[in-house]
Amino acid sequence: MSPVLTASMLVVAGAVFAFTMVRRIAPLFALRRVNRTDRPDERAAGLLRFGFGQRRLVDPEELVPGAMHAVLFAAFLVLAIRTVTLFGMGFAEGFHLPLLAPESPLGRSYGLVKDVLVLAALAAALFFLWRRLVTRPDRVTLSWEGNLILGFIVGLMLTDMLFDGAAMVARAEPLSWWAPAGSLAAAALRPMELSPVALRAAEVGGFWAHLAIVLAFGNFLPYGKHFHIITALPNVWLRALPPGSSALRKLDLESEAAEYGTQSVKDVSWKEALDVYSCTECGRCHTHCPTYVTGKPLSHKEVNRALKHHLLVAAPELVALARAADPASKEAAAAALPAISEVVPPDTFWACTTCGWCETACPVLIENIPRLVDMRRHKVLVDADFPDEAARVFKGIETQGNPWGIGSNRRAEWCEDLDLPRAADGKPFEYLFFVGCAGAFDDRQKKVSRAIVRILRAAGVSFAILGEEETCNGEAARRLGNEYLYQMQAAASVERLNAYGVKKVLVQCPHCLNTLRNELPQFGGHYEVVHHTELIARLVAEGRLKPSRASVLDGQPVTFHDPCYLGRHNGVYEAPREALAAAGAHVQEMPRNRRQGFCCGAGGGRMWLEEKLGTRVNRNRIDEADSTLGDAGGVVAVGCPFCLTMLKDGAAETGREEKLRVLDVAEIVASGLPPTG
Ligand code: SF4
Ligand code: SF4
Repeated sequence: MSPVLTASMLVVAGAVFAFTMVRRIAPLFALRRVNRTDRPDERAAGLLRFGFGQRRLVDPEELVPGAMHAVLFAAFLVLAIRTVTLFGMGFAEGFHLPLLAPESPLGRSYGLVKDVLVLAALAAALFFLWRRLVTRPDRVTLSWEGNLILGFIVGLMLTDMLFDGAAMVARAEPLSWWAPAGSLAAAALRPMELSPVALRAAEVGGFWAHLAIVLAFGNFLPYGKHFHIITALPNVWLRALPPGSSALRKLDLESEAAEYGTQSVKDVSWKEALDVYSCTECGRCHTHCPTYVTGKPLSHKEVNRALKHHLLVAAPELVALARAADPASKEAAAAALPAISEVVPPDTFWACTTCGWCETACPVLIENIPRLVDMRRHKVLVDADFPDEAARVFKGIETQGNPWGIGSNRRAEWCEDLDLPRAADGKPFEYLFFVGCAGAFDDRQKKVSRAIVRILRAAGVSFAILGEEETCNGEAARRLGNEYLYQMQAAASVERLNAYGVKKVLVQCPHCLNTLRNELPQFGGHYEVVHHTELIARLVAEGRLKPSRASVLDGQPVTFHDPCYLGRHNGVYEAPREALAAAGAHVQEMPRNRRQGFCCGAGGGRMWLEEKLGTRVNRNRIDEADSTLGDAGGVVAVGCPFCLTMLKDGAAETGREEKLRVLDVAEIVASGLPPTG
């Protein structure tokens, strides 16, 4: 067509693009290092599943928009070949890529796939425009940028069709099923009976307009949320591999370069920066976020947007920091950066329950929780600026080894009359029953501990407890930002468990489960950790436990509330349901169940903090249980002491304590066992 014009366009657009990208990427080199090159096979599998397979987008909850996005993604991939071909044609009109000559079988097949996707992408772009301008779903941010991008896509598809269609009419080619998009354009042009000059103008115009839109589109991407078109696939490759956010990173508190969380943007990692660059602002993270849904000032989408803007504004200081050669100039460059709490207000990062919904929902696998916890860490470890209620929890754990601060010598009072074997007895046992602070000190949860003992004895499971030797593993302290206290507790727990040669641990609290299973390995504690509902389901399956119909249910319907740290963080969804079924319970599912389960409001240490903003999370959840169970009410089954407390309180605060009985799965199963002698 015109080698000079094609080359000029490529050079100018390429230079502008390179200039923008350098400015975007340069600050990343000043940020905290993390290694994301391990386990390449898992990374490749994830890229195929979540990147190319669009697994999180084609979700039953959002099938149509997800499928439409997948169409656009496929069109981008396939049309990339077409774009290269068109630029080649700019230099030599008959250019085609090897094996893709237009009349060759492969070339014709490619043309068919390309044309089908052109039509599908056009339909998808029009669908999204309709959605943005007419139906306007709550989670979608209505910005001019989104409309412009959709306009670019519509323009790309129409110019592609015009180029092909005008050429077909000019050469008097018949319409062909091998080129449906081009044929459609030709069918529209033919009745116009355009002159050869006009047809050539349409063909050439379509060609140059298409290339111009491609270059404008590519250069526009890094300036807005559509940067994800460039960064999403790398971000998926570089994701945190399991246990991911279920195991927070261990801060180095000892060395000269000790870390104390995030004071300013310089303390986030380069991967966290890539995360915020990759946010598509789709709002999927909002859908079941307990804080967003109940009106707290935490929108993960907005946090990402604020951080991205801040990163770009602070880029010169970050680059200066990276270049600073001596400690004094490093300090000066760091001091020029505002505190992170000026970018992400503290109410935002204290609101998170670390329930994990946002990370489960995010199509580009952004890691949200560690970033927010790192902000808490700096507030706690350096600024000593944290909610008063958290101070009481820290003191209780520090002085008595439990968040209530109840005397540690009273830890085994719950089982004084049960004559339970202790690890210190020196006799062999299979499971170390790690009772947990709630199971040992909370009057309501003590009943659950006793129900578990009853089940273990009925099934003949060999177990022992630590008794007064057990101490809090520090989970709440860690998620409230007190990493120092957490590390003391974690180390103490590992020391004790290892001293007794423990291999298998039974827990009743999903927060203990997560800490012992996913986080204690950071301290040398490697155990097979099992939640009581998992063990119950296994014992039933093995025929070692044969509960009859649970008497405690009184024939009432049951619904099960998925604890976030059992379900989303550790993938245990079916075991509690199997345990309930074994006890004759017919579970009626709440609309938000399993992966979409809605937090009770207690995670992330929020169990211990007052909930002063928005409406109450536990109220939201108990309302859902209520409407699921119907007018006569029933039983809300749980598998977590925090969920039990929150949902019981939610029912009691609204006068529904009798109607909605909150029971642990263990209590339900134990009530179906024969009475012990
Ligand atoms: S964080 Fe993920 S889910 Fe939330 S808006 Fe961004 S891309 Fe969407
Ligand atoms: S972890 Fe849960 S509470 Fe925190 S932002 Fe994500 S969805 Fe919301």
